[in-house]
Amino acid sequence: MPALNGLMMETPLLVISLLEYAARYHGDTEIVSRTIEGPIHRYDYARCLKRTAQLAHALRSLGIGQGDRVATVAWNGYRHMELYYAAPGIGAVCHTINPRLHPDQIDYIVNHAEDRLLFVDLTFVPLIERVAQRLKSVEHFVVMTDAAHMPKTVLPNALCFEDLVAGRPETYEWPELDERAAALLCYTSGTTGNPKGVLYSHRSMMIYAMNICLGKSFGYGPTDVVLPVVPMFHVNAWGIPFGAPLGGSKLVYPGAKLDAENLFELLDNEKVTVTAGVPTVWAALIDYMRRTNRRLNSIRMLAIGGAAASRAMVDTFEREFGIHVVHGWGMTETSASATDTRLAPQEAALPYDDRLLFKTKQGRGRCFVDIKVIGEDGTELPRDGKSAGELCVRGPWIARGYYNDEAATRAAVDAEGWLHTGDVATIDARGYIQIVDRKKDMIKSGGEWISSIDLENAACGFPGVAEAAVIARPDPRWGERPLLVVRPAQGAKIPPKEILKYLADRVARYAVPDEVVFLDEIPHTATGKIAKRVLRQQLIADKKGAA
Ligand code: ADP
Repeated sequence: MPALNGLMMETPLLVISLLEYAARYHGDTEIVSRTIEGPIHRYDYARCLKRTAQLAHALRSLGIGQGDRVATVAWNGYRHMELYYAAPGIGAVCHTINPRLHPDQIDYIVNHAEDRLLFVDLTFVPLIERVAQRLKSVEHFVVMTDAAHMPKTVLPNALCFEDLVAGRPETYEWPELDERAAALLCYTSGTTGNPKGVLYSHRSMMIYAMNICLGKSFGYGPTDVVLPVVPMFHVNAWGIPFGAPLGGSKLVYPGAKLDAENLFELLDNEKVTVTAGVPTVWAALIDYMRRTNRRLNSIRMLAIGGAAASRAMVDTFEREFGIHVVHGWGMTETSASATDTRLAPQEAALPYDDRLLFKTKQGRGRCFVDIKVIGEDGTELPRDGKSAGELCVRGPWIARGYYNDEAATRAAVDAEGWLHTGDVATIDARGYIQIVDRKKDMIKSGGEWISSIDLENAACGFPGVAEAAVIARPDPRWGERPLLVVRPAQGAKIPPKEILKYLADRVARYAVPDEVVFLDEIPHTATGKIAKRVLRQQLIADKKGAA
């Protein structure tokens, strides 16, 4: 018997429909942006859709059509959001580029993606000028500003964003695309080898947006005000520019000012209810709130992801500041989060300290995402909260390959469609995963594996520690030993012996570092995480300052 098909409409899932929906039903809901030019810009979803239509006409006038890649090098702001919708809306691909990457990597990424246009914020014009000659495929550079702020630039064929869109029709006949068509492109920062392109489809982004709007997830709704600190060049700001319109939520974009004081002001003034970012940003905010004794009252959920949230960080937000934290795990390849720590009733009912334990894990899988951990031989390990192995995932918003990179695809995705993440994790019987470490960051000492994340989390609990990192140092006797690196909070004095003793009470004896190094500055990657490779280069060759 042939399969019997359902008789429902096969309306494709296209991202432009999110903005159309928000404009129709939440038309006067605001989108607020701190601009690079200075002032705060405010408009609403209705206006955003009109400008997006104008931008779509502009893209067409420059010859952009289906499948073409349109690059952005920009902060979180309304013009960037318009590009998020206009390019996919006409069937092109919005390719977000991380400006904090090394110029050689930017050059590689643009050439690999064969971007035809490159939209650039004022801040990054000098950066792009330095590499422009090497960007072979780019036909026009569009500076994301108005005529009054247009800089003198050596960028060839430079255009001004506002001049480009001005006077164009405010409606657009959005084509009915195949929902499997590519919509967005983002390269992983490539700590090893060249960056790899993750090509999101309309379908994957729509399913992801719907998922983060679930009540059991972030549950964006019309009374929410959502501020993504996570940049739009880092995994599409974790899908927030798509989830917020679907929820009818007000959006607040922080632009270039990501320091704690400016963030606090925006969070406070705009009465933000949900915000999301990496731990480094939150560590600075905690420091600021403590120093100034200021508090935030409107936040109902603060999301931490991209790197492990320490127990001390979650505890500070929850107990000291009364801010509810959700911790999640994900990667560029998983469209942002594949797990989150919205606790099930069983865990939510636990005493505070036990609950905290679950909140510092990385949470349970989201609906539609399969998760397992495997041993060295590839077989699945038990879900006992103890057996650690490589974390593998698959699902409708997980990459099944890298853009134009067969070798990288073969290395990451197996025959059964599982993406091998390079992260080592455990899964407990209730389904909570805990990231032990990145495979390449684990420390092997005398045959025992030591988790750098465990040590960092524990060290963050010592008073006065603003940031902690642990790296492996070669050791003639043990193979490797952990080296603790600490950035003390402003004005804090940390006695090395005491912090090591503090760790000795909290981790296995063989895991206690022999030494601690104090730095005023810990290097970060392009996505704001601790740059362990740079730290290893700095400290393993040069051990000055070791206590
Ligand atoms: P990059 O490799 O440049 O950091 P991604 O943003 O794609 O690029 O990083 C994904 C990786 O970040 C994951 O594979 C994992 O190692 C780490 N990560 C993300 N979220 C968490 C988390 N909540 N806890 C621990 N590690 C995390």
